[in-house]
Formats: sequence, C-alpha cells, structure tokens
Amino acid sequence: MTDIIDGNAVADEIKSGLEGAIETLADAGARPGLATVLMGDDPASQTYVNMKQRDCEEVGIEGRHVDVDGDAPPERLYEQIDALNDDPDIHGYLVQDPTPDHVDYRDVIRRIAPEKDVDGFHPENVGRLVAGDARFRPCTPHGVQKLLQAYDVETEGADVTIVGRSRIVGKPLANLLVQKADDGNATVTVCHSRTEDLAEKTRNADILVAAVGVPELVDGPMVSEGTVVIDVGINRVEDDTEKGYELVGDVDFKSVKSKASLITPVPGGVGPMTRAMLLYNTVKAASVQEGVAVDLP
Ligand code: NAD
Repeated sequence: MTDIIDGNAVADEIKSGLEGAIETLADAGARPGLATVLMGDDPASQTYVNMKQRDCEEVGIEGRHVDVDGDAPPERLYEQIDALNDDPDIHGYLVQDPTPDHVDYRDVIRRIAPEKDVDGFHPENVGRLVAGDARFRPCTPHGVQKLLQAYDVETEGADVTIVGRSRIVGKPLANLLVQKADDGNATVTVCHSRTEDLAEKTRNADILVAAVGVPELVDGPMVSEGTVVIDVGINRVEDDTEKGYELVGDVDFKSVKSKASLITPVPGGVGPMTRAMLLYNTVKAASVQEGVAVDLP
C-alpha cells in the first residue's frame, strides 16, 4: 500500500505550533517581522512573494514587501538591504531569487545580515550548517526533514539518494542528512547532471529525493519497491487547459506511486513545507533578536 504524504496537513501543524511561539513573543511585547524584497517584475517571483506575505498574515507575523525597479543599479537594492539590516522591526528577510542579470545574487546574499538571513543562504550560515551548528536550516531541506519525521521515516542508517546538487536544495539537504543527529545519520548519495547510471543510484535508495527541475525524470523502473519518494520538483508543463499549464514534479507520479511506500504529490507535498519553514525561521530569528525563549514546533 502506498501512502500519499499530505504536505499541507504537516505544514498546518507547523504553523499551529508557531502560533504558540508568536503568542509568547507577543506577551513580551514583540512581533516577528519578515520582509520580502523583489527586484524587477518577474511574474513567478511576484506570485512567490505574494504567497509569503499571505502566509505571514495567516500566522500573525508582520509582513512587509519592498519593490526595487528592475533597471535600477545594484546600489538601489543594496540601500534597501542595508536599511532592513538596521531595522529592529524586521527580524528576517529575503531577496527573491533570481535578481536581474546585472545584479550578482552572490553579492546580494553576502550583504544580508547573517542573523536576518532566514533563507539560510549567507556563506556564514552555510558554513554553520556544514559544521553541524546551523542557525537557519534552508527552508526546503528543513521542510523535507520535517515531512520525514511526521511520517516516522527513520533516516538513521538509511540509504538516501538525492538527485540534484543545487545550493538551495540538494547540497544543504545532503549536509543535514549526513549529520550525527536524530534527523540525520543517513548514508547519502548526491547525484547530478554528470552522474553515470543514475537509475542504479536511485534504485539503491531507501529514501529518494528528486530536486532536479526536469519534469517526471524519475520513473517507475528507477525506483525499488518500498522506497520513500520525496519530490521537490515544481515544473510548469504547457497544456491546453484554460490556465495553459500543469504543475508536475520531477517524479512520474503515476508509475512511481505503485512502487513507493510513501510519496509526496505535486502540488501539496514539499511546496507548503518550504513556505511553513520560512515562517519558522522568522520566528526563530525574532526569538533570538528579542531575547525571548520560545518553543518551536
Ligand atoms: P537547480 O536547477 O538549481 O539544480 C538542478 C540540479 O539537478 C543540478 O544540480 C543538476 O546537476 C541536476 N540535474 C539536472 N539534470 C539532471 C539529470 N538529467 N540527471 C541528474 N541530475 C540532473 O534546481 P533547484 O533550484 O534545486 O530546483 C529543482 C526543482 O525543485 C525545480 O523544479 C524547482 O522548481 C523545484 N523547487 C521546489 C521547491 C519547493 O518548495 N517545492 C523549492 C526549490 C526548488
């Protein structure tokens, strides 16, 4: 029997858990604040920042959005970053990726105060994560860990294959899962575009994570019976519906479902968890900056 993982339900549990922490902060006179910064007017990025602002409202985080003209010089963006670094009402913020071509995203990340870097992408935070002393776990990998925990999937001793080595998903997730920790202790194989015999690696997995950005790359023959399959991919595939596209993952749900013991759907799997963990990091940032201890879910 395959169980389908309900990412919306687990994300709701995390959000309910955060409400308690937000109340504790309110009792101490503090309200967590999250800012989103968008340079340019990319429609997909606009959708993402709107969703993040809605999420803030839902749980009682103070949301703020800052737009920067897409044609402006990088300095205009840096001014906003410097102002947010100095703003005591904003405990965490992010600059939506990608920035326009004339702005190097790495320079942007380095300018963000590490203690407000709720995406967890600043080199200091990446270093801390690798050292086993994470300040903020990046939202998607952390969300994957929380999903595994919610469904009692043991990572200790498990063979985990991650397809994709990106800065935001594959690499940090691999680092988290190999750590000597209750939600780590796995043996991790990281695959990428130059991996030879990918199917051999995916078939060897107890837990298989796909974060590739290639629609339905992982299909039934690549998966062994009983595997836990986590599909991070969100890909727009054009179709003739009114919307003009369908969202599909990196896993071919139909052919993999009959083999997997547990599988995430797309949408409704990892996506809602990523959003919930951004709120989590914001509350954590507020707790540290305000000096108010809270219980995090
Ligand atoms: P990316 O483009 O930065 O990295 C993709 C990785 O896949 C690369 O490391 C590349 O080496 C590897 N790859 C590409 N083709 C491959 C192949 N044929 N075989 C093996 N490896 C291959 O991607 P990303 O930012 O990690 O995003 C991956 C997917 O996850 C995208 O669909 C993205 O939209 C989605 N995503 C979803 C969430 C979420 O919240 N659910 C968050 C982030 C990203």
